[in-house]
Amino acid sequence: MSKTPDAEPMTLRLFNTLTGQLDPLVPSDGKTLRMYACGPTVYDYGHIGNFRTFLEIDVLRRFLRLTGIPIFHVMNITDVDDKIIRNAAQAGIPIGEYTPPFVDAFFEDLEALRIERPEQIARATEHIGRMVELVQKLAAAGAAYQTDDGSWYFRLSAFPEYGKLSKKDLSGIEDGARVDVDEYEKDSARDFALWKAARPGEASWETPIGRGRPGWHIECSAMAMAYLGDSFDLHAGGEDLMFPHHENEIAQSETVTHKPFARHWMHVRFLLVDGRKMSKSEGNFFTLRDLLLKGYKASAIRLALISVPYRHQLNFTFEGLTDATSAIERLRTFHQRLLTGQFPAGEDPELQAAAAKAQAEYMAALANDLNTAEARAPIFELVRAANTAIDQGQLLAGDRDAILAVLKDFDAVFDVIADRDAEPTRRAVEWAKRSGREAGIAPALLASQSITDEEIEALVAERTQAKKQRNFARADQIRNDLAAKGVVLEDSRDGVRWKRK
Ligand code: AMP
Ligand code: ZN
Repeated sequence: MSKTPDAEPMTLRLFNTLTGQLDPLVPSDGKTLRMYACGPTVYDYGHIGNFRTFLEIDVLRRFLRLTGIPIFHVMNITDVDDKIIRNAAQAGIPIGEYTPPFVDAFFEDLEALRIERPEQIARATEHIGRMVELVQKLAAAGAAYQTDDGSWYFRLSAFPEYGKLSKKDLSGIEDGARVDVDEYEKDSARDFALWKAARPGEASWETPIGRGRPGWHIECSAMAMAYLGDSFDLHAGGEDLMFPHHENEIAQSETVTHKPFARHWMHVRFLLVDGRKMSKSEGNFFTLRDLLLKGYKASAIRLALISVPYRHQLNFTFEGLTDATSAIERLRTFHQRLLTGQFPAGEDPELQAAAAKAQAEYMAALANDLNTAEARAPIFELVRAANTAIDQGQLLAGDRDAILAVLKDFDAVFDVIADRDAEPTRRAVEWAKRSGREAGIAPALLASQSITDEEIEALVAERTQAKKQRNFARADQIRNDLAAKGVVLEDSRDGVRWKRK
């Protein structure tokens, strides 16, 4: 669809945790939106809760780009923390050996879900010097103190605004009460660890503030400021990070700079699985890989995880995944129909209006706090109307072009129409076989993966040949053999198309 050149630029109004209202999200330098998102702690494979948050941040990125705003997005990788140290010790290897496979797996998973890579990845262990400098500045400002064991703590009483993000009433803070674990009770505010003195068997660095390792919170402050400066546009993460992690980031950073750290804070609501909190002991805990091995496609997982707006509770169910699968099927079939159909020249005023309306509603819904549920509805409505028009021979070439343009903008954010699902599934199966997880592979998926694309092509060619020679028994046998491996054939005017179910 042609966009009118004088149209009002679409400004995203995004809920800002700090102000408690929808605020326009615009680059403060008038050019590039500078943002920081808390990345993964690489102690295990990512679960669907983690990816829900990263997917919503991906939706934000893609929508900003669609409205013409360039982005500079920094994401950290927490590759040293309590959990990593514990797991590496259990595995009997140094953290530097323990984390790399999980970092690789994380990027592979992002790719599977078509989550765009941030412009800048920052690993905690590569920024220790920055963290040490920040602790030194805090100490100079009287906001950090060292305990007898050599650890450093942030003095909460040095930052009177503490609690401004999470709006917690922290009047009962006990001065000097300390906590040294990275994650702690949600309702208590304590002096928190900036730097933890070395303990035998734990990873540590020799630095001017002593031998030790950084606390989790200082990692993000130091890396955000290293790449984005004292103040930047947006900081994002899951809702669990609001307190204490983000509150602590603000305290550490603003105590040193006396400037607002991030102007805008975005928090993604936690997902539930079958109405309950996801947990390993409840048996409702899923990594992305678990779902791929059950035979769900990466695109369906992407759509299921983003179709509920980020501030709403997403209840993840297998039913929802199946719905997403058929929704994508519908979109792809329709898209194919537009691309391959023959349409007479011209434009139908009603279809032109329908396309324009769908486009406007789609953009308005996303601009309204990234309401993905309201954004997809008009697109599916347009698909329905256009399918009917094609059936009735009413759709013209100009309508096809207008609708394809709407689908292009839809897919600039949702990114589910182009079928790139085979590769993530194939990789997940290989990984499962390599790592002794065959038991997690669904039998139907295992069967379909037992045949390569080349083998399918060869059988399809043989079947065409058999049909030409009127050997229908052989042709049927090939069709059935392929069906047993989850490969379906579609005979069409321009030959045979095949796909894996
Ligand atoms: P972690 O690797 O645990 O540091 O988490 C990475 C990101 O995933 C953070 O932004 C978390 O807030 C987010 N996250 C963790 N669990 C969930 C969940 N159940 N739902 C949504 N986001 C989550
Ligand atoms: Zn962080």
